Amino acid sequence: MASSKIPNTGFSIFSEMTKMANKYNAINMSQGFPDFDCSDNLKNMVFKAMSAGNNQYAPLEGVYKLREMISEKINSLYSYNYDPDAEITITSGATQAIFTAITAFVKENDEVIIIEPAFDTYEPSIKLNGGKPVYVKLSYPDYSINWEEIQRSLNSRTRMIIINTPHNPTGAIFTEEDMIKLQKITSGSKIIILSDEVYEHILFDGNSHQSVAKFPELADRSLLISSFGKTYTTTGWKTGYCCAPAELTQEFRKVHQLVVYAANTPIQMAYAEILQYPEEYLKMNDFYQKKRDLFINLLDGSNFDIVPSKGTYFQLLKYSKISNLNDIEFNEYLIKEVGVTGIPISAFYHEKAKHNVLRFCFAKNDDTLKLATDKLRKL
Ligand code: PMP
Repeated sequence: MASSKIPNTGFSIFSEMTKMANKYNAINMSQGFPDFDCSDNLKNMVFKAMSAGNNQYAPLEGVYKLREMISEKINSLYSYNYDPDAEITITSGATQAIFTAITAFVKENDEVIIIEPAFDTYEPSIKLNGGKPVYVKLSYPDYSINWEEIQRSLNSRTRMIIINTPHNPTGAIFTEEDMIKLQKITSGSKIIILSDEVYEHILFDGNSHQSVAKFPELADRSLLISSFGKTYTTTGWKTGYCCAPAELTQEFRKVHQLVVYAANTPIQMAYAEILQYPEEYLKMNDFYQKKRDLFINLLDGSNFDIVPSKGTYFQLLKYSKISNLNDIEFNEYLIKEVGVTGIPISAFYHEKAKHNVLRFCFAKNDDTLKLATDKLRKL
């Protein structure tokens, strides 16, 4: 048999947990997808685009109208101007954009800073390209970042820093001060920032999203990656984008064409149309804040320790008052004996140390949240 290029990488924990939840008929709060549908309006926009004959390849860089709408959106929200022609590329989801960006820029032995816990595709994508992940940990309970530690980790081999705000899995967010510190410690260097902003429209308690596009000096050496999946309840449509200065975009597109050539045409047309209605994405903060509040309130008086999520549709629950099991064992116990599943947070760390925190996705119908919390409150 051929030897594996990524021997330590298994199949995604998310699909494993979903399979197990189905097998034991447990309420699935593991994988990050809503159990409610996207709007009929948006579906009709796709149908309209297909009926009008938009069913062949889009341009490599994406449908122009969509790139134009993204440019306008970013300009109105973050005051940075990306040229739709030379600086925006539509991808088959953020996952593809992340892989493409890492493949385009990370060479053999280049170092890439990853902030742990981290979304699970970063590390294997770096390793597949011969790069070396360098891990810096966020600290419990607020999952704040230690910029001095990041600074100490930088050297002449550092090629990239991957940031993710709002942050999956912790629900932490970067403040303006965080972004200024990042800008300062990378100022004058050639380090590329890969900024994963897929939850940019899911922030709570009046906090505002700190995009790299708000910091022009940072934006000049960043790849801003986002996705429509979270914003429009369409994770299955797998469409996202990457915005970056022309020089970086050119290299990004060279790889993008090899990975997918171009993203799905009618879906791009539909997003271009719905982006004409900013209220559709602006309402998501409130929509998910209600879900977060409901989930937390329903767990009031339970034995879990809860630090309210500040963004994303994830909430961490610490269970050290309930059990001494490690997070994988405790999650298995929840699936088999309690009838609910989250995701063990150790899935987001490279070292399998003993953790006692699980991540729950609250992008679920209110009835699902009630049923799940009824079970969790009994523990
Ligand atoms: N980055 C983060 C932090 C995510 O949580 C996800 C989706 N779970 C992605 C990227 C991937 O997004 P997409 O589904 O558009 O590929």
